[in-house]
Amino acid sequence: MVKCASKLDSNGIPLLSKEQLDRHGERILHAFSPAVLVNPQPTDLDGLIREMGFNQEYQYLSHNGVYLGLTVFDDTDMLPVYNPVLNRAEFISVKKNTIIIEGTLAENPAYEHRERFTLGHEAAHGLIHAEYYRRKAEFAGYSDTSVGIYSRPSVPDLSGVDASGRRLQGEAWLEWQANYLAAVLLMPKSAVKMLKDQIEPKGSRYWHIELICKMVEVFNVSEEAARVRLASLGFLPT
Ligand SMILES: [Zn+2]
Repeated sequence: MVKCASKLDSNGIPLLSKEQLDRHGERILHAFSPAVLVNPQPTDLDGLIREMGFNQEYQYLSHNGVYLGLTVFDDTDMLPVYNPVLNRAEFISVKKNTIIIEGTLAENPAYEHRERFTLGHEAAHGLIHAEYYRRKAEFAGYSDTSVGIYSRPSVPDLSGVDASGRRLQGEAWLEWQANYLAAVLLMPKSAVKMLKDQIEPKGSRYWHIELICKMVEVFNVSEEAARVRLASLGFLPT
């Protein structure tokens, strides 16, 4: 798998700008499945996660859906999950380098886009955040029972800055990076640009709406994910 040679901040989070994440994501896709960059199509995230050397499984991570996914970086025999049959928590064994997706996302076809984005998000953690996790686990020592990075549902915003325009910090920045890289893996810039160049010159006043619909169809993503991705690339008219 393509390594990320970026510098790290004091927490071990790579110092990657949007442009660098776009380039890094495309390098990964180029090595994994170069066709997705020249012939816009849905990225095979299950295949990418296998290629990364990660396992993938589905578990109920909580009783109320507070987590969408978890990237596990250490072996454990004590991962708490929810058992809906017994209506209680139980502990399971999980190997390191496992991506766990919240089970409810796989049960309803209406959640397909959310499931795909979550897979992309957890794959991103696996690709660029192992060192962050390692440092955090080392710092926490034996007192920490967490074996990975949990992901909660987050506001779909790829700007990477807070309300006053300052760059996000700490875990918020970590989650932003995972969201941004997920968007790159699902909707690589070069493929998006290709679709834009097909649709925009036709001159329709509503070309950007047409483009969003096309992206939903071609990349198998939600309308919201497509719109936010276009905005982050500066491809939407202001
Ligand atoms: Zn996350």
